[in-house]
Amino acid sequence: MGLIIQKFGGTSLGDAEKIHRAARRAIRAKLEGNEVVVVVSAMGGSTDTLVDLAYQITDRPNRREMDQLLATGEQVSIALMAMSIHHAGHDAISLTGGQIGLRTDRTFGRARIREITQRGRIISLLKDGSIVIAAGFQGVDAGANITTLGRGGSDTTAVALAASLGADVCEIYTDVDGVYSTDPRIVPEARKLDYIFYDEMLELSSLGAQVMHSRSIELGKNYGVRIHVRSSYTDAKGTDIVKEWSDFDQVIVRGAALKRNLARVELTNVPHQPGIAGEVFTRVAERNVIVDDIIQVVHEGGNTADISFTIEAPEIEAAQALCDEMAVEMPGMTPEIKPHRAKVSVVGVGMRTHTGVASRMFESLHQADVNIENISTSEIVISCVIREADGERALRAVHAAFELEPS
Ligand code: ASP
Ligand code: MG
Repeated sequence: MGLIIQKFGGTSLGDAEKIHRAARRAIRAKLEGNEVVVVVSAMGGSTDTLVDLAYQITDRPNRREMDQLLATGEQVSIALMAMSIHHAGHDAISLTGGQIGLRTDRTFGRARIREITQRGRIISLLKDGSIVIAAGFQGVDAGANITTLGRGGSDTTAVALAASLGADVCEIYTDVDGVYSTDPRIVPEARKLDYIFYDEMLELSSLGAQVMHSRSIELGKNYGVRIHVRSSYTDAKGTDIVKEWSDFDQVIVRGAALKRNLARVELTNVPHQPGIAGEVFTRVAERNVIVDDIIQVVHEGGNTADISFTIEAPEIEAAQALCDEMAVEMPGMTPEIKPHRAKVSVVGVGMRTHTGVASRMFESLHQADVNIENISTSEIVISCVIREADGERALRAVHAAFELEPS
């Protein structure tokens, strides 16, 4: 007898028939002798509809009220899921984020979980024989305001519950049958992975793979939760997201990802003095612009330097305002923002112990006639900033170069 968390995403709850299907899964796990907690997202597309409605009312919705609104999507699905299980003759009870005691900070729209206070209540409901249905994505702050965890945040609710209850596994049910070596919509040869390590999954999520909410992987890693991503439509085994172990099949690159909608900010002829980088990036941070891949090159003579960094396209306006301001304060400095950039990356813990990965990646991009504008590396990632128009071709090229296709 085990304790299983089953999380169903919006596409797995698109209509009444799909809700019944998800309910049958939960019932089956229960009949197999497990205690079952189901975490649900809003029904497919409904969160987008709510966001859209808010923007029909105002182009600046209040953040607290936005969370109040968005949390309703999950409240619909928990109740319907519980009804479906009742309809099949089994016990179930639905609980909102507040009712499971999912406490967060007060950052509306992307709140962080602090604790789950109603663990005892959940356990006693399970002991009484109920399937417990919890609303994903939502919580409450210390002042009982409803908060949400950020788009895709139901995954994080599921993993947090798994950690808190000591579940044997956290199953993530979705419309694909697992985690792929890259996006199969762009690269049809992409391969389903049997397993992937937390760190690899974390990197791939932040580099553009839209499989799971990054914070859920972080939590999974910190608490050692076994996560299993699988299809709601079949019984096929999916992908395990697990703790690192030395895999003897010597996989060097586990996956490749493409992140679009980026821009590169270039500040040319910045005075080369102590404190300038600090000054520039303090101002960037004050405007809440998130930056990546910072490069500084000092000119000959050592009086001036160029600083460049990557931002996401929605931040271009804020970055432009900042550039204009700095251009006035630093005579001689020329700012330029280059839009329509993308980043292609390869990820794998095997890079720690193998050489030649970078050269193979660059050579494959060369063969595909893709110009690399910037390179950044970390222990388990190599990323290249390229033109957005080259993105898909670049992803196909690196994916093939590392033989990530099925053999
Ligand atoms: N319903 C929320 C969203 O669409 C949360 C989730 O699906 O995980 O982002
Ligand atoms: Mg999701």
